[in-house]
Amino acid sequence: MVENGSVVVDQSSGMIVDAGRKGDVNEPKDSKVIEDAGSTILPGLIDAHMHFFGSRKYDILEWVTTPETLVALRSVADARKLLRAGFTAVRDLGSKAGPHLKRAEAEGAFDGPRIVQAAKSLAQTGGNDDVPTLPIKISEELSYSYYCDGPWECRKAVRKVIRDGGDLIKVYSSGSMAQGTKVSRQFTLEELEAIVDEARAVGLKVASHAYGEDALTNSIKAGVSSIEHGIGLTPEIAKEMRRQGTFYVPTLSAYLAMKTKPTEQQSILIKKHLTEDIEFAKQAGVKIVSGSDFVGCDSEPHGENYLEIVNLAKYVGSQEALMAATSRAAECLGLEKSGLVKAGYEANLVVVKGNPVEDTKNLSPSHVLYVVRKGRLHTVNA
Ligand SMILES: [Zn+2]
Repeated sequence: MVENGSVVVDQSSGMIVDAGRKGDVNEPKDSKVIEDAGSTILPGLIDAHMHFFGSRKYDILEWVTTPETLVALRSVADARKLLRAGFTAVRDLGSKAGPHLKRAEAEGAFDGPRIVQAAKSLAQTGGNDDVPTLPIKISEELSYSYYCDGPWECRKAVRKVIRDGGDLIKVYSSGSMAQGTKVSRQFTLEELEAIVDEARAVGLKVASHAYGEDALTNSIKAGVSSIEHGIGLTPEIAKEMRRQGTFYVPTLSAYLAMKTKPTEQQSILIKKHLTEDIEFAKQAGVKIVSGSDFVGCDSEPHGENYLEIVNLAKYVGSQEALMAATSRAAECLGLEKSGLVKAGYEANLVVVKGNPVEDTKNLSPSHVLYVVRKGRLHTVNA
């Protein structure tokens, strides 16, 4: 952290030209100067686990049946909110709209964060987003996942995501709380290995939604790049993640934002997650990354994604939580020259009132003064 700092941005290239203490930085004479005493310049924030569901209700049937045009329009509004809240990159871990939103944002159709996205996720039949009350054909048709069973179907599903333009593969290696079922492993080790192998062949990473020891162990053995949620982490698994360099995205906010009353079994899992799991990861030196798992519904609105950083800070401290949402998140997303305020890096910045190292609540949308993305200045509350 630099006091009295200055950052010089080249708007045409969208890169940071110089950064450091005010007197040491070479500020070109003709540059537009923005000064704000008592504010902090940070790298643009990154939410490494979110979804563009374009749904305002926390309800799986709603997530798969909201008309696609409505999903797109709401998601554009959500993307704008994210940018104005200081998020310059997000990773959409499974949605039907992801590839199209990414393309439109990159074309400049709307102002939003950079979108890294998994396109549709991969799930087994009867898996995470298979709505059991619907006939299977309809459920499969509406799903934001490709259903696949057996290693060859899994390989084909990876190929479909590649065809759709996914930047990575998202796999449901276990059930989840959204389904309300007892959480057990999904996909076999053989299936997960096929998925990772097929993704690796074209240089894509795999993010694994994993609850419970079986799903965690299988995912790590298969060689996934990141563990999402990671409920039920053990010290042994954490050690192995550290050894392999696997990222851990604990998505604490998703559980803290839960509106439905958890079952007794779910309460036990959540309590352990918010105490032991995160502690095991911290002790083992696992690379912890900030991801809210917000989907854009009323209880998890996009724009409030900074809450994950606030929640992480309670366990790992504010400095670590800020890294988890900037430099380490950039590494997790595979974004080079991003996530740091440094000469030669992309000019993705957020300027907030106050000091977020003292209190991460200073990252709330009401504190955001300016956001810079691709070198372009967006004035928010200044
Ligand atoms: Zn998710």
